[in-house]
Amino acid sequence: MGRRVIEIALLLLLSLSLHGARARQEAEGAAGARSLLQEVAHKHEVHCSRERSRTAWKIIEEYLMPFVDQEQYQISSKCRLHPDNDMFHEQEQHKIHVDTNEWRCGFCKKAFRAEKFLDQHFDNRHYNLLNDTQGRCLADLCGALHCDQMADSKKTKTKCNPAAAARNRHLCESLADSCFPTNQGRLASFFFFFLASRLHELFLRQFCDAHTCSGGQKPFSRGGKKQSSVFYLAVCILTVMLLPLFYLLVYLHQREMRKGTQDLKRISKTMRKSKPS
Ligand SMILES: [Zn+2]
Repeated sequence: MGRRVIEIALLLLLSLSLHGARARQEAEGAAGARSLLQEVAHKHEVHCSRERSRTAWKIIEEYLMPFVDQEQYQISSKCRLHPDNDMFHEQEQHKIHVDTNEWRCGFCKKAFRAEKFLDQHFDNRHYNLLNDTQGRCLADLCGALHCDQMADSKKTKTKCNPAAAARNRHLCESLADSCFPTNQGRLASFFFFFLASRLHELFLRQFCDAHTCSGGQKPFSRGGKKQSSVFYLAVCILTVMLLPLFYLLVYLHQREMRKGTQDLKRISKTMRKSKPS
């Protein structure tokens, strides 16, 4: 009788432990599959083009920021053109272009032959830095910012779609309103209002006017950084050319002065000599 009880107890224990092992295995398998799924999902989670975001940022930097900086205006973080609202901004800031064929990751200093490999590295190794919450995809603003024009300016023009043009114009105008608000509820200082309305106007001329099928209007009509850099270069060349002339004038002037004092000394000497007689 006692033996039978022991046998049953042993059998029970064995079946329990077997069941536990299987359950653990299943759980582990499920966890593994889940993490794999998560990884795959993460890769597809970011529905935002890095390349187009980069183009959009280039446009902002070249055709908007020079004017914003000139006015010393602070773009609010509510504006989608603010750097914090570009999910790739931090990574892009950590690209080090060492040489034509050498790109370096600013986070882990790994080197790559081309920018696209560094992009892949960011996607694989530093994806945790991508915060793709709503409204942080700069590429979504490409329609308003004329990214296609910037990307291939030499390409033959595609036929204009009035509906798309109207949509882009609307997006463009809403950007102008949110980034350079002129109808603020809070008591904005007159100076702030003045700056915002100036930049609001500029934004419309620079980006929004060209969203039309009637033609004639070109994007970036107010120019950008390139022109200012040409101006800067011209000023530099002029300075370099005028500097020797300036020094020559100073030198000549000093020589004249020295000559003048020597003449004075000579005169005073002759005066002193002639006095006793
Ligand atoms: Zn890295």
